[in-house]
Amino acid sequence: MTIFHCSGCGAVLTPPLTLLSAVPEPPPYEEREQGTRRSAATMPRGHYAIEPEPWGAPYVPYADDEDGPAQRRAGWKADERGLLKSAGPRSNVVLHPEDAPGLEFLAEASMGCCSGPVGDRGLNRACRCGQPVATLAADCSTVYELHLDAGSVRTGDATS
Ligand SMILES: [Zn+2]
Ligand SMILES: [Zn+2]
Repeated sequence: MTIFHCSGCGAVLTPPLTLLSAVPEPPPYEEREQGTRRSAATMPRGHYAIEPEPWGAPYVPYADDEDGPAQRRAGWKADERGLLKSAGPRSNVVLHPEDAPGLEFLAEASMGCCSGPVGDRGLNRACRCGQPVATLAADCSTVYELHLDAGSVRTGDATS
């Protein structure tokens, strides 16, 4: 079991979590919440997994002869340059958002149309000390996941 701490101040950010070998496929569209239209969480409570592919901001154009989703699980993205793909960090620590309940909103978070931030503008959640540590994706247009930034957290052993 692993506990995640803020790398800046050492505060505990999560309860003890169990590693999954991969991030699961998100629940199907039909399992969205009725009121908020938010997706059901990708991760089960009490677990984490490492996202090996780039995920989140910044986004860069695909080469001319390529196309595909912007990042794993969270759909397609385009601007005036055409289809975009994530050039964001690798090794994000993916959790159920309710397993890091003490994080603070950052004012510049990009809000989606209804149920929360899209999570496509970089880190949007901070430790109580002020250090940005995570990206929350919670809008109806995307998955419901919290991504701890690998460079902004450190791990501790829950048994010691
Ligand atoms: Zn901190
Ligand atoms: Zn929405």
